[in-house]
Amino acid sequence: MLDVRDLSIAYQGSIAALRGVSLTVPEGAIVALVGNNGAGKTTLLRAVSQNLRRHRGRITQGEIRFEGQALTGADPEEPFRHGVVQVPEGRRIFGTLTVEENLRLAAAAAGRSRGRGAIQRVYELFPVLADRRRQRGLLLSGGEQQMLAIGRALAAAPRLLMLDEPTLGLAPQTADRVMAAIRRLNADGMAVLLVEQNAALALSIARHAYVLELGGVSLEGPGERLREDPEVRRLYLGGS
Ligand code: ATP
Repeated sequence: MLDVRDLSIAYQGSIAALRGVSLTVPEGAIVALVGNNGAGKTTLLRAVSQNLRRHRGRITQGEIRFEGQALTGADPEEPFRHGVVQVPEGRRIFGTLTVEENLRLAAAAAGRSRGRGAIQRVYELFPVLADRRRQRGLLLSGGEQQMLAIGRALAAAPRLLMLDEPTLGLAPQTADRVMAAIRRLNADGMAVLLVEQNAALALSIARHAYVLELGGVSLEGPGERLREDPEVRRLYLGGS
C-alpha cells in the first residue's frame, strides 16, 4: 500500500535526517517505527504527509509511492485525498471547541461522503468522548485529548492512519486503551503506520516493525521477532 524507497531527507542548515530508508506498509497491516529521539521517525511521517516543506526539509533521494502512484510533493493535499491521514504529534485539537465541534469540523474538512457516519463510529470506539461531547477540548484529560486527536483523524475515514507517539505522556492504562483502539481499527481493515518511543507497546501490536537509528533502518522484522531480539531488548525494552 505504502512504499518508501531509499528515502533521504535533509533539513535546511543541518545534516541528513534520513539516509536511504526503505519501508513498506502492506494493505491491512500495522507497521511500527521505533527508535530514540532524533532517529528520524517524525521526519519520515512528515515526508509521507508531504509536510516537509513547512519544516524546511526536502527529499534529496528516493521516492514515496501510495498504491503504486508516486507522491510527488507538488501538492500537500495529495496524500489526504488518497486517504492517508496523520494524527499529529502533540494532540492538536481545538481547546475552545467542544468534543463534538472538533469532530464535526474534521468530518466537514474530509468532505461529505467520507465524513458521513464517522462521528458515530468515533463515539463507538471511544465511549468516553460520547460522554464528554459537550465539553471543551481543553478540559479533557491527556488521554481523552489523545482519543479526540485520533477521533479527528478517523472522521476523515483514512485508509492509512499514521500516528506519531500516540501514547506519549499517557498513564499505562490509558496507553493500553489507545493501543486497543488501534487494534480494533486495524481489525476493521485500516492500515496503520505507528511511530512510538514505547517500543514494548508498539511491538506488541505490530505485524512488522522497523528500528530507526541515526536516520537509517538498523533492524526490521515481524513485531514478535524484534521483541525477542537481544539487541532490541537491550536498547529499547530495558531488558538484557
Ligand atoms: P522525536 O521522537 O524526538 O521527534 P524523531 O525520531 O521523530 O525524534 P525527527 O524529529 O524526525 O526524529 O528528527 C530527526 C533529525 O532531524 C534530528 O536530528 C532533528 O534534530 C532534525 N530535525 C527535525 N526537524 C528539523 C527541522 N525542522 N529543522 C532542522 N532539523 C530538524
